[in-house]
Amino acid sequence: MRVTLQCLVLGLSAKSVLQPNNILYRTSSSSSTFLSSKKSTLALPKTSIAVSSRNMSEGGSWTPSWYKDSWGGNQRGGRNQRGAHNRGGGRNQRGGYKPYNQRTHQPTGGPSKMTKVDSGSISLAAGSKDFLEQIADQRRRVCSSVMEFNFNERRCRKLSVNREFKPDCGGIVYWMSRDQRVQDNWALLYAQRLALTHQLPLYVCFCLVPKFLEANIRHYGFMLKGLEEVEKELQTLDISFNLLTGYAVDVLPQFVSEMNIGGVVTDFSPLRTPLKWVRDVTAKLPRDVTFVQVDAHNIVPCWETSDKQEHRAYIIRGKIMDKLPTYLTEFPPVCKHPHPSTSKLQPVDWVSTKVSLQVDRTVAEVTWATPGSVGGLRQLELFCRERLEVYAADRNKPDHKAQSDLSPWYHFGHVSVQRSILTVQQFEDRYKQSVEKYIDEAVIWREMAENSAFYNPDKYDSLLGAPDWAQKTLRDHAGDKRQYIYSREQLEQARTHDDLWNAAQIQMVREGKMHGFLRMYWAKMILEWTPSPEVALQEAIYLNDKYNLDGRDPNGYAGCMWAIGGLHDRDFQERPIYGKIRFMSYFASKRKFDVPGFVKRYGAKAY
Ligand SMILES: Cc1cc2nc3c(=O)[nH]c(=O)nc-3n(C[C@H](O)[C@H](O)[C@H](O)COP(=O)(O)OP(=O)(O)OC[C@H]3O[C@@H](n4cnc5c(N)ncnc54)[C@H](O)[C@@H]3O)c2cc1C
Repeated sequence: MRVTLQCLVLGLSAKSVLQPNNILYRTSSSSSTFLSSKKSTLALPKTSIAVSSRNMSEGGSWTPSWYKDSWGGNQRGGRNQRGAHNRGGGRNQRGGYKPYNQRTHQPTGGPSKMTKVDSGSISLAAGSKDFLEQIADQRRRVCSSVMEFNFNERRCRKLSVNREFKPDCGGIVYWMSRDQRVQDNWALLYAQRLALTHQLPLYVCFCLVPKFLEANIRHYGFMLKGLEEVEKELQTLDISFNLLTGYAVDVLPQFVSEMNIGGVVTDFSPLRTPLKWVRDVTAKLPRDVTFVQVDAHNIVPCWETSDKQEHRAYIIRGKIMDKLPTYLTEFPPVCKHPHPSTSKLQPVDWVSTKVSLQVDRTVAEVTWATPGSVGGLRQLELFCRERLEVYAADRNKPDHKAQSDLSPWYHFGHVSVQRSILTVQQFEDRYKQSVEKYIDEAVIWREMAENSAFYNPDKYDSLLGAPDWAQKTLRDHAGDKRQYIYSREQLEQARTHDDLWNAAQIQMVREGKMHGFLRMYWAKMILEWTPSPEVALQEAIYLNDKYNLDGRDPNGYAGCMWAIGGLHDRDFQERPIYGKIRFMSYFASKRKFDVPGFVKRYGAKAY
């Protein structure tokens, strides 16, 4: 009886619910319309908590060793007075505190258990199946389509006032914006689930704006190639891809009206401009169209992690880890759509689309990174094969290949971080520390940056958004004498007295990706060499967004704010210009890696 009731509530067939790998383990009592039968006009659920329980039931409980090892034990190392990296534990490299209860000497703030997703293991051994095929197998093992999957609707926010699903409409739209991929995309999965439930065609729309926040041909070129791949993949799935040219507010509502669309689903970014696009579209969509946003970028949806801005890694780490077992599930596949659109679409002319862009073409496209999901997943494969082993030890050494280099694909949504974590955690037995570190960077620090932007929309890229202690100390030292002052041109052309800084700048200009360790050093030096902290932040963001392929990202704003404005960090010993902001030095870098070798590699000089 209970199961039948839940089936009705969630609009699922009793058969699908009773499948052993699809057991509902928790539901709310509210009803779901959007997912109920075709003609339904029931109300949308406020929250419907149906979680894919294959992952809950099959994987069993698993306490990752990195949970205790990185948080436990009496590891409170002393503070490094020069403010250089403290490897002694207690405070981590970026000044986050490990959650350690001084009174009970126990780790605090995290979950005691984490669910291991067991959807088959990835093998990289010689002769094993192709990596991408293994991933596709993993999805298929979950179920054959999202209809059989208990979608966790906490990933969704309903944006429209309308709670009724319009019957007799012509289809469902996924307005793809940030997450530019087909598979491993919760927003597209949700849209397909709606379309399947109501037996409707599914349209994917991307609104291409000719200009976006200083993005140049390096960024647009990468993005368009990724979208070309999306179009091809959707074609094989009988899902129509529509490249609409213009701002979403001008072109999407028109498409929705013309095609008599009943529901629109979009993905999520916490940044001001995309949030405004979403607000504008919400206001302009026909009132009988339901509009839902799905956080397809974060593992734990940004609004679920916390309801406020979190300032410390150890606090948000606890919150994310508590919720990770619920959200770190394997993805079902986006399947061949059985209700294709009847309107015939011309394929996009990608060449002329690129020609028509009104963007700066002086920043060359990069060749090392192949755009699109296939290129990104190949990069993930390479990382697991060749670098994961040394990630913990060497990721902060710019002369070593140890980072994943995945940030461009994450930024454009070509690869889901959740897919990377599902993959990387399968190597936990072999590379325990590296897996710990990767999860800490790609989940905790990345999702903290998302949190920071989401709850600080007007100030995430301004010193007004820095912690009070940092604002005060920077004000106190605003009048300090600067030995060097460089103009934007000098910085951009890598013409400073510091050859390491120049090499980092050249790396960014040439390759579209500066090494993570150097980004910290690079931004801090800009604080030292510009007339004020405000100018420093402005220049760092300008250069970062112009040259790094992963620029214009919450991570970039948080990174610049961390380096210059003390965001997510603590205070250090006071010194000129920096005040109590953490300092990094050329000499400390020399102890870390082969600085002369790195400088030589980029042909950098000191001016
Ligand atoms: C001044 C400054 C500017 C930065 N600008 C950007 C930017 O524009 N875009 C961007 O994605 N990242 C930025 N970062 C964060 C970080 O340096 C990059 O994410 C990382 O170097 C990307 O390389 P990777 O993918 O090889 O990283 P890996 O070390 O392989 O890490 C994997 C993933 O973890 C996440 N991650 C790693 N380090 C951080 C961090 N410090 N904060 C948040 N998330 C992190 C990223 O998503 C990254 O792709 C910046 C950091 C600083 C200090």
